[in-house]
Amino acid sequence: MPELPDITLYIEALEKRTAGAALDGVRLNSPFLLRTALPPLEYLIGKKVTAVFSIGKRIVLAFEDDLFAVLHLMIAGRLHWKERGAKLAGKSALAAFDFSSGTLLLTEAGTKRRASLHLFDSTSGLQEIDPGGLNVLTCTLDQFSERLQSENHTLKRALTDPRILSGIGNSYSDEILWQAKLSPAALTSRLSRPDLLKLFDAVRTTLTTWTERLRSQTGDGFPEQVTAFRPEMAVHGRYQLPCPRCGSPVQRIRYADNETDYCVTCQTGGKLLSDRALSRLLGSDWPKTLDALESLSRKYKTGK
Ligand SMILES: [Zn+2]
Repeated sequence: MPELPDITLYIEALEKRTAGAALDGVRLNSPFLLRTALPPLEYLIGKKVTAVFSIGKRIVLAFEDDLFAVLHLMIAGRLHWKERGAKLAGKSALAAFDFSSGTLLLTEAGTKRRASLHLFDSTSGLQEIDPGGLNVLTCTLDQFSERLQSENHTLKRALTDPRILSGIGNSYSDEILWQAKLSPAALTSRLSRPDLLKLFDAVRTTLTTWTERLRSQTGDGFPEQVTAFRPEMAVHGRYQLPCPRCGSPVQRIRYADNETDYCVTCQTGGKLLSDRALSRLLGSDWPKTLDALESLSRKYKTGK
């Protein structure tokens, strides 16, 4: 699932291409994509884009007259920028947004139709889909610590829960925990102040370093190489490859459709987390699927 660095790149690229441009038409190839009945899609036609921003891992195109189109790419959804009127070719092409400046294509690989489009006609409507996670790039250490410890979870779960923190998913949580030298199975309630500081620093360093790296790789182009697995990653997607810091083979834990990669020397004091033991631990702390985690609504949030 595209996370904060990739979403940021999408937003910057869309802003450059669509800000001030009018939407001439929308073509849908899938009856499942649009998840709202009102306002009708036609309301957007002829309207100009006033802003592009993110809410969690969702991408919001704001139009004149307080109209908003919200795209959630989920795991396999991707965006592409094409010349105006580009065809919706193949089963993976779900929608085309024709702007005066070009066509934004939404594709989704595989057969599961999970990517979604929501339309809203007010900013208050828009807030309904905000899972409420903290903006990790602008919050203070105290806000970060308070939010992280407001519920007791494993670090892996806390980092990826969109109600707790915004924009972090399966890939970057692995990279952040490796950077912080903390175990994915450590519990948030037991984190010391120095651990919280290490984690806070690792969150920011990892996300900003990656955003800058992707920016320099993408240049003026549209981000077409969005993937959860990148060769420069330290542990994520690198099962059994050497840890770039200590050389130990990277370990993997699987639970449902979640995967956690970590270094046993750098992160767990040499202790191998057994698949079964961790599954038990994550099992009580983890929705069955990443999708379920992603769609947890704000109303389940405890505390403030
Ligand atoms: Zn290591």
